[in-house]
Amino acid sequence: MALPRTFEDEVRAALADGAVIFEPEQLRTYECDGLTSHRVVPALVVLPADADQVQAAVRACARHRVPFVARGAGTGLSGGALPVAEGIVISLARLNRVLRWEPDVPEIVVQPGVTNLEVTEAVLGDGFYYAPDPSSQQVCTIGGNVAENSGGAHCLKHGFTVNHVNWARVVLPDGELVQLSRWDEPDLLGLFVGSEGTLGIAVEVGLRVLRKPEAVRTLLAGFGTTDEAGGAVSDIVAARILPSAIELMDRLTIEAAELAVQAGYPDCGAVLIVELDGVTVQVEDDLAAVEAICRENGAIEIRIAEDDVERALLWKGRKSAFAAMGRVATSYYVQDGVVPRTQLPAVLRRIAELEAEWGLRVGNVFHAGDGNLHPLVLYDERVEGEPERAQRLAEAILGACMDAGGSITGEHGVGADKACQMPQMFGESDLEAMARVRRAFDPVGIANPGKVFPTPRLCGEVPGPYRAHPLEKAGLAERL
Ligand SMILES: Cc1cc2nc3c(=O)[nH]c(=O)nc-3n(C[C@H](O)[C@H](O)[C@H](O)COP(=O)(O)OP(=O)(O)OC[C@H]3O[C@@H](n4cnc5c(N)ncnc54)[C@H](O)[C@@H]3O)c2cc1C
Repeated sequence: MALPRTFEDEVRAALADGAVIFEPEQLRTYECDGLTSHRVVPALVVLPADADQVQAAVRACARHRVPFVARGAGTGLSGGALPVAEGIVISLARLNRVLRWEPDVPEIVVQPGVTNLEVTEAVLGDGFYYAPDPSSQQVCTIGGNVAENSGGAHCLKHGFTVNHVNWARVVLPDGELVQLSRWDEPDLLGLFVGSEGTLGIAVEVGLRVLRKPEAVRTLLAGFGTTDEAGGAVSDIVAARILPSAIELMDRLTIEAAELAVQAGYPDCGAVLIVELDGVTVQVEDDLAAVEAICRENGAIEIRIAEDDVERALLWKGRKSAFAAMGRVATSYYVQDGVVPRTQLPAVLRRIAELEAEWGLRVGNVFHAGDGNLHPLVLYDERVEGEPERAQRLAEAILGACMDAGGSITGEHGVGADKACQMPQMFGESDLEAMARVRRAFDPVGIANPGKVFPTPRLCGEVPGPYRAHPLEKAGLAERL
């Protein structure tokens, strides 16, 4: 659908030449995020250079009721930055400057297009670091991290993005610029973090950074089975030890990582990476306890990094695990679910059953300390029906997570991918309460429509023919 002419004129007048993309082949660059199975070419893409230009673009959208989708680096895995065909993408790529660093507070102020890793790089020289560390940290942006409330290996001890944002300047869907702060009541910042671009666009963010710990020790333990590794995780937590990270990889993921980056992992059924940080005496005590627990649970090999180089090598395989899957399959689907830690072994067994039932392989790599699973469903898109089977298997895994008392997402968000599964987890009144909150920010629904909330169009599309959604039948959701 063509955009209103006057809308385009307004947007072009507000932005510099070259900051409006309209050529079809250039628009294709933005047709998807990390969830490449979902693709929509937007009507227009704009690349504002500052907050004023973001505001001008959003105001034009509000005046003409044109939907907009904010985009950071496009690494999202739930289709959060999937464009709307009759709408525009607002890329924050050019808002990529560190604005202020105040070690005394300590707080760093950044534009949303700054990458996660750049934040740590900016403060490291003064002995600080930014704790949330998604595996995509070299490229994903702070704007995307805030929108997704992103996690990472070290969020077990230090908390998710929401625990590290002091304030954010946000352009609301009507174009108004507001500042939301963690000290305000009600906690609108808490609402905004994790809202997946549906409540507005962050244009400046104040982040809390942490002082580098006195000591960091990293241990890798190899086990015969994921059950044994899972047992060690439960025992570490039961012993009241709080590592900064506990990561688990199964055999298939270890093999792929070894092919890709040769981290020197043992040939075994599962590896655990446990990292401890804090005061030296405490860290050394905990390290000895963790080593003993791993041995009691059947560890066949234990390595403890002696220096930063060895530590980086132990992490290398884990950090490249998703990309490494390209070595063993032509395509894969990254699932993201959470279960109570005690349910990990049972859910992993259920995933193995589902693998056999659906005839597809699944690699498991996850933040074991958080119970946050990332099953990687491998398929071959050239084989007819396999992509659909992979999708169904991934959905069945989420069903197993919910059956075990877990949730449909741990850190990758709901986006377009899981909107249709929201009613499996939330009742109608919960969904209506969430929709009301959203309408309070965005009464006409132009900020990232089709994400998070189930809509009949979205949920009727994949897989199979359109069916009226129960919420539509009940008059609680509209067909867009
Ligand atoms: C290899 C790989 C590993 C990953 N590992 C992790 C991991 O360990 N932990 C984890 O949590 N995630 C992980 N992810 C997922 C992804 O990197 C995160 O969700 C990340 O925060 C997305 O950032 P982005 O800049 O790419 O955002 P995008 O993908 O561009 O956008 C994500 C969402 O944020 C919205 N958005 C973007 N910028 C803004 C803004 N300024 N204001 C408001 N809304 C905005 C978009 O509309 C969209 O809904 C991984 C992804 C990949 C590909």
